[in-house]
Amino acid sequence: MEKKIIFVLVEHHDKKVHPVSWELIGKARELAAKLDNSEVWGIVLGDELENICNEAIKRGADKVIYVKNSRFNRYINYEYQTAIVNVVKKYNPEIFLIGATLEGRELAGMVATKLETGLTADCTGLDIVSDNRTGKKILAMTRPTFGGNLMATITCPQHRPQMATVRPGVMKSLPIDPKRKGEIIVENIELKDLKKLIEFLETIPVKTESNLQYAPVIVSGGKGVGGPDGFKKLKELANLLGGEIGASRAAVKAGWISDEYQVGQTGKTVRPILYIACGISGAIQHIVGIKESEIIVAINKDENAPIFDIADIGIVGDLHKVIPALIDKLKQL
Ligand code: FAD
Repeated sequence: MEKKIIFVLVEHHDKKVHPVSWELIGKARELAAKLDNSEVWGIVLGDELENICNEAIKRGADKVIYVKNSRFNRYINYEYQTAIVNVVKKYNPEIFLIGATLEGRELAGMVATKLETGLTADCTGLDIVSDNRTGKKILAMTRPTFGGNLMATITCPQHRPQMATVRPGVMKSLPIDPKRKGEIIVENIELKDLKKLIEFLETIPVKTESNLQYAPVIVSGGKGVGGPDGFKKLKELANLLGGEIGASRAAVKAGWISDEYQVGQTGKTVRPILYIACGISGAIQHIVGIKESEIIVAINKDENAPIFDIADIGIVGDLHKVIPALIDKLKQL
């Protein structure tokens, strides 16, 4: 019986892997356990990336396809598309997972179009289910839809590979297992016939202050914070807890805080150990971004606020009183 392959694209910049790639390898292992006779394969494009290939194996890949060419050290969409389409045609994976990053979103669409297969973008959940028409095991891909008011589960019963992009921060990566062994397959893809369509000029790094996505503690503020000054207190609390601040879209739209701090469907998906929602009502579009948090604490003056439906600990009260009291207590410790 032919092995079923789950491909995961390992995205990297300056020899650093985007954490979503490790999260996807972790998830792919879980899916492989439900899909008979299957393996997880990483795809790494670039040169001098042997360390990344080895790490992919130690994090759960059975094999790594290493498309070795220094041109791939820099992402150029149609060059990546050519290489990846070649590799997919050669190995016929059953499933192909890509991080829903800026690059991944673009590339996945380009690859799916060339392969004439389906793509579910921006997934927040993946599972293996039985196709009720054929009984075969297929990938169920879940993502928010209708402006975040519904969660849709989508399958791709006919075309292969079944492709999904997945939001960073949703899945859990596996710890490195130094003893794990696997195989690295080096592939050479010819690009010389490819017309040069894009010329690379320079990289301008985006200045970002927020380390929100992977912070262990997030103190998040909504419309109830009342203005930009309110976020100063939230920052103080976040600092005391070794965390970061976040915000609802309403607070961002009001201009109280920059959009890099927005959590939710159109912001970042987070899964901290502790998420403290201050003056946030708990709209579904906010909840989809925080529901994987280990502990959710909600502070809201309205006892009927929907945020209390998902909170592990609820504090009914005025955040302008509760937060300074928490800060004072923490300072005494
Ligand atoms: P509100 O709903 O106005 O709630 C404010 C809360 O603060 C209330 O519950 C109130 O009781 C409480 N409060 C007021 N004063 C105090 C006080 N002194 N002490 C304690 N509590 C107080 N939203 C997101 O957050 N993230 C997204 O990514 C996102 N994406 C969206 C995408 C689409 C397509 C759409 C249509 C909407 C999206 N939204 C998103 C918006 C979302 O629907 C809500 O409008 C938004 O989350 C509300 O923000 P909020 O809870 O801060 O404000």
